[in-house]
Parts: sequence; structure tokens; C-alpha cells
Amino acid sequence: MSERVPSPVDLRIDARWVIPVEPAGVLAGHTLIVDAGRIVALVPADEADRRYAPRSRVALPRHALIPGLVNAHTHTAMALLRGIADDVSLRTWLEQHIWPREGRFLAEDFVHDGTLLGAAEMLRGGTTCCNDMYFYTDAAARAYEQAGMRAMLGMPVLDFPTSYAADAEAYLQRGLEARDAWKHSPRLSFALAPHAPYTVGDASWARVVTYARQLDLTIQTHIGETQHEVDEARATTGESPLARLDRLGATGPGFIAIHAVHVDPEDIELLAAQGCHVVHCPASNMKLASGVAPVASFLARNVNVALGTDGAASNNRLDVFSEMRLASLLAKVTTGDASALPAARVLRMATLGGAAALGLDQQVGSLETGKQADVVAVRLADVETIPMYDPLSHLVHAAGRELVTDVWVSGTRVLDDRRLVGIDVPALASRTQAWQQRLA
Ligand SMILES: [Zn+2]
Repeated sequence: MSERVPSPVDLRIDARWVIPVEPAGVLAGHTLIVDAGRIVALVPADEADRRYAPRSRVALPRHALIPGLVNAHTHTAMALLRGIADDVSLRTWLEQHIWPREGRFLAEDFVHDGTLLGAAEMLRGGTTCCNDMYFYTDAAARAYEQAGMRAMLGMPVLDFPTSYAADAEAYLQRGLEARDAWKHSPRLSFALAPHAPYTVGDASWARVVTYARQLDLTIQTHIGETQHEVDEARATTGESPLARLDRLGATGPGFIAIHAVHVDPEDIELLAAQGCHVVHCPASNMKLASGVAPVASFLARNVNVALGTDGAASNNRLDVFSEMRLASLLAKVTTGDASALPAARVLRMATLGGAAALGLDQQVGSLETGKQADVVAVRLADVETIPMYDPLSHLVHAAGRELVTDVWVSGTRVLDDRRLVGIDVPALASRTQAWQQRLA
């Protein structure tokens, strides 16, 4: 048998455990090989020695490697409003605290700086990809490029004017202009983001559906976040908000239902029949006293469920680790079944489930050969995480985002021993301080 010459590759990462998500399970003594931004192999260390000659090598002997987490719903720029109004109802929060400030301050620089702040927070917490829904899509795209983060940008649609656009058609045109400007970026993708059934009328929904079908774009919207919204819709149209969107042609495998707290059995059947995705936002739903989404019922009908933080103004952390733990605990307490949403299942939701909702599961969401190398190292060796019987259990129930040490997006290191590589943090902090003084 002839000895093969080792292939030159960009990067080799050795970790104590690798949790690829697909296939399920924990691999010990394995090595991830990355070249040109992609995973080219996940093999035992001795095989890596024989087959690959890496140009750079990272040893993480006390860490678990996991796929980058996907935050499947957020309003990233609202990081600038973190903690500005807590302990009030959704309506009061929006009408008295958020909308008046957005009315005064919403602009390109607000969105750029807020998005950069939120991206920095997410990267330090092991989130490599988010699904953003906010205004000034172009400014947000610029911030994600700067941070080196992957993002799907929801192009917002509303029936009322803001500084960003005057009417639904103007919102759509501004979003599509940003998409044209950034469509060649390998890390950015775009979706249509009508805010909610109650803020977007039938005519505008029809426009959204037309664009979605012509341009093959995902539609994402807040739906069933509060009981009030569902009651009002039923009183007006005699149908649930989701049934109305289905009648208007919006549902299908490219439809993301965000929150889906107040849905009835017919709605769940509809989501399943149409192949829609749900984004579960446990912390935001709890904090605004919205309720708890029937996640076990979605999963029982094979509806794909992803996890989202919602904006930092309502959560107040863009922290997918804490969403994983809350999702698991809520599933158990609401079903009375301690086996509901085990750790492996909830990690899958936060990675491959999120990627599938965003239509990116061929590219990211698991540590599989051929996928983009979006990789997160979590240190599991200190007093908070010993003893170690099961790394999966620790990731969901014992670890937190503070244990994330290193992050790669498409094989580029964006977090190096907790230091952000592409972001000037002192400059970001001083701009954030200036925004705080204006917004307070
Ligand atoms: Zn939201």
C-alpha cells in the first residue's frame, strides 16, 4: 500500500469533543479540517495526521466544537434599546417606549451602530447567523459585513410610514434595492418581512406574495404573539391570522411563523400541511407575558421549529444558549413530561432547525463535509462544567454563552479567545454611549 502525500489545507481544529448535530451524537478525539471556508473532513486525529498538512492548527483540548448557533428571529439594531423599558405589557412597551423613540431616532446610523453592537454580542455568544427584521436594510448589511457574521435580512413591510419608507410599495422597493446592492455577498441573504397580519393589510400582503413567488424569497412575519391580536382578527375577518395569510397565498415551505404562541389545532395542521417553519422565542414571550408556544404539538406534527431571541429591547439578551435552556424547561413544564425536548433535540433546533427555517441548511447548521465552516468552541473544563458525563447536557443546562471562546464563520476566525477580531470594540462602545445619551 502506497503512502499518500498529505493534502495542504487551511485549518485544522482539534477539540476534546465534536458535536456535529448531523449525524447526532458526540465524537471524541476527532478533528475538523477546513479549507477555502468549507469543512473538508471530520476525522479521528490520527487519520488527520496522515491525510492533511494544515497551514494553521488550533488545539482546544478542553472544548466542545459545535455548529454556529442560528438566531432565527431578532431585530438586531434594537440592541441600542436594551433595558430601556421592562415590566410593561407589549402594547405599552410598543406605544409608549419603542415607537416614539424609533419615530425620533430611526436612521441609517442608528441601524448601523445597533446592528454592529448586536452582531458583536451574538458572535461572542456563539451565534454565527441571525435572521434580522428591521429598517434600513442597507445599513444593517454593512454592519454584518464588518462583523464577519452571516445574516438573513428581512426586508420590512408596513402599511404605516416611518422615516424609512412611506407605504408598503416604498418599503418593498427600498428593501429590494439593498438586496440588489448586497446580493453577491456570500454571507448575506434576504427575505420579505411583512411585520404582522395586523400591521399589513390584504393588498400589501398580495404584493408581498407576488414578490416572494417571482423572486423565490422567504416570507417571515410575527404571528399569534398575543391572544388580543388573534381575538381582534377573528372579530374582524372571522378567521385566524394564519388562516387569512393562507387564503392570501403566503404560506408554504418558504414561510416563517415567528412566535406562534396563540395558534389553534387547525393552525397547527395548516403549518404542517404547508411545510411552514416556526420560530420559538421563549424569553421574549415570557418577559412580555405573551404565553408559551405549543412546541411539543408542532414537533408532533413534524413542523420545523427554530429558536429566536427577538430584539434585545424585549429580551434583553441576544443569547441563544439561554433560549435553548428555556425552550427545554418550558417544554417539560407545559407538557408535564420531563423527557420533552431533550438536549440533543434543542441543540438541533438552535442549529440545523434554524438553518432550515432560513433555507440555509445545505450550507450551514451542522458540521458536515462540504458545508461552510461556521464553528463554535465552548470551553467545558471549569468548575461550572465539571464533572463531565455528557457534553450535550452541559451545553444546554450548565454552560452559558460566556464559555464560548472561539468562533469561525466560513473558516474565518471572528472570535479569538473571546476577543472580537473584526470589530473595533472601544469605538463601538463609545458610539453606543453617545446613543444612550440621546435615547435616554
Ligand atoms: Zn420580533
